[in-house]
Amino acid sequence: MSLIAGKNTKPEVMVRKILFSLGYRYRLHVSKLPGKPDIVLGKQKTAIFINGCFWHKHNCGKNVKPSTNIKFWKNKLDENVERQKQNIKELKNLGWKPIIIWECQTKKQNRLINLLHKRL
Ligand SMILES: [Zn+2]
Repeated sequence: MSLIAGKNTKPEVMVRKILFSLGYRYRLHVSKLPGKPDIVLGKQKTAIFINGCFWHKHNCGKNVKPSTNIKFWKNKLDENVERQKQNIKELKNLGWKPIIIWECQTKKQNRLINLLHKRL
């Protein structure tokens, strides 16, 4: 998402650190794959997306709703969600395993490690 803080957002750095410490080797922002996954584990054919809770409408209660331009934001966010659905579908069709990690899941390191263990 080019509209957020740019590429090396904090949640992403957290995930990368953990993956690295678990022995995984990855590539970043692979634009050849649908949706340009944030982290790609080539060997495992796994594509990881780090979703901002606001940008992808996570129902965790941590995404503050904008109070102005409501219609604009609603359309924009709906579009994000829809686009990602498509990308996930395409990745699966190509034989990739897509994993979505939510921003709010990266706040506690222990939890994030458990989550990655389970999903990978
Ligand atoms: Zn969330």
